[in-house]
Amino acid sequence: MKEDFFRPAVLSLFEEKLCLSKDEDRKIENLIMNTKVVFVSGGVISGIGKGIATSSIALLLKSRGFNVTAMKADPYLNVDAGTLNPIEHGEVFVLDDGMECDQDLGNYERFLNQNLNSSNYMTTGQIFKTIIEKERALEYEGKTVEFFQDPPREIIDRVERCAKKNKADIIVFEIGGTVGEYQNLLFLEANRLLKLQNPSDAVHVHLTYLPIPSSIGEMKSKPAQMSIQQLASSGIPADFVLARSTVAVDAKRKEKIAIAVGLHPEDIISAPDVENVYQVPLNFENQGLSSKILDKLELKPKASDLSKWKVMVNDALIAKKTAKIAMVGKYFTTGDFTLSDAYLSVIESIKHAAAANGFKPKISWIDSTQIETEGVKVLAGFDGIVVPGGFGSRAVEGIITAIKFARESNLPYFGLCYGMQLAAVEFARNVLRLTDANTTEINPSSKHPIIDVMADQKDKISGKDLGGTMRLGSWDFKARKGTIIEKAYKSVHGSERHRHRYEFNNAYREKFEKEGMIIAATTRDNKLVESLEIGDHPFFLGVQFHPELKSRPLNPHPLYMAFLQAIAKVKNKGKKKK
Ligand code: GLN
Repeated sequence: MKEDFFRPAVLSLFEEKLCLSKDEDRKIENLIMNTKVVFVSGGVISGIGKGIATSSIALLLKSRGFNVTAMKADPYLNVDAGTLNPIEHGEVFVLDDGMECDQDLGNYERFLNQNLNSSNYMTTGQIFKTIIEKERALEYEGKTVEFFQDPPREIIDRVERCAKKNKADIIVFEIGGTVGEYQNLLFLEANRLLKLQNPSDAVHVHLTYLPIPSSIGEMKSKPAQMSIQQLASSGIPADFVLARSTVAVDAKRKEKIAIAVGLHPEDIISAPDVENVYQVPLNFENQGLSSKILDKLELKPKASDLSKWKVMVNDALIAKKTAKIAMVGKYFTTGDFTLSDAYLSVIESIKHAAAANGFKPKISWIDSTQIETEGVKVLAGFDGIVVPGGFGSRAVEGIITAIKFARESNLPYFGLCYGMQLAAVEFARNVLRLTDANTTEINPSSKHPIIDVMADQKDKISGKDLGGTMRLGSWDFKARKGTIIEKAYKSVHGSERHRHRYEFNNAYREKFEKEGMIIAATTRDNKLVESLEIGDHPFFLGVQFHPELKSRPLNPHPLYMAFLQAIAKVKNKGKKKK
């Protein structure tokens, strides 16, 4: 019924403009596909957990016996996330096939516990790029390429490709941005067309927010009502509403929203803040969300199996021991805010491994400029140091000082990508006594370029061919027997995801090994160094790749496990001494 209620808005706003019937070649029959799609949009404000909601829905549907995958559509004109500043947009996540994408793809992989690929991510930039390339190749055969007609079709093509590639019964499709802004209208239009074609093929879940203003002290539902209505004015009636707030939404507010937007109160799902994000799907499931969605999609579910997930969540919640970890880096502050999002996967990986070892991690953000001004005293009292990935020269000397401190004071150290490269620079300067040692990213004329750029990368840099051209995606490595890395993987073979331009300079391999820094892993052809470690240290490991991109709550990453286990060992020894 509510479809009818909302039809007038659709007709006036879109159908007239689109004139679907006028263009016989572009009838919506072209859009037919077998996969069902659950669209997820957000309203009122950004940052209320649309990615976690999308991941949770995907997990719940998977737990009912379906092949599920998740897609993200970002409204930016950037072709991928590789060119976006992590302070503004959060971490750049990398998939096995090298796609640099939004951090939400990391959430999908963590919740679904499966690898995704470039078909799972799109941006408006990609859509327009494809359309313009097709137009230049005369693929539109003389027809006018329409701004509001052709992009939604390209979006639906991509949904189909993703469905095929991932053999998905259901795709959960997150529409980036917030309803009411112009940027994501093309994605909403793709949603509307799919739903028009067959209402039981597409369901729309809208995530909205109910504030509790301190001056009123009461939860207010008006902004939520308005965001649902705003969505409806794009021709899409919400099927379900996830009502985010700091506390659970009560029956009275559910009813208010339901009446205002033409839904049943049971279709309004309460989504309060939780201690651990992995509780979110369990909370949704307690309100029967997967059955409700599957009913609408006319799919027959199997019994839900979330047993392993529940054990994992419980382990994380009951963990008692604390591990104090210093994350030393430079992308942490913007104005008054600390942007831990820039390192989301690293934090999650630490949490996964910590929970599996009975720890609650206490992660502190140490801006390396602070070490430059105040010295290593800011590192006192930590159980371990992590230096995550990074770019450029600002605040790097502070990071190098922190690494020296970890190496000399036997503090567990884990360097990720830049963290490995800078550990090599520190070792060259302070152990090999090559005072000018550096990465050519910082000092291109260093006499000792310990970390240097490969020849093919030099051409890319000078030709300004900078988008999607780093060493990206999964690369196989082989490890030396008896090293931390081989013991952690229980194998000399492994494969990890990369995102960098610079590499360890092979001219220094021998010198490093002579002084006790082991080349623990290389690419299969032995050409590139993948990992460095110090044997005579409780845990000093640098890796050229990003293991955090493959850690999952149900499968914590072996190297993060090894790091947490080393911390536990050092802490135990300390206790015994006392
Ligand atoms: N800036 C370094 C490089 O490009 C490291 C990159 C990273 O840490 N992801 O090689």
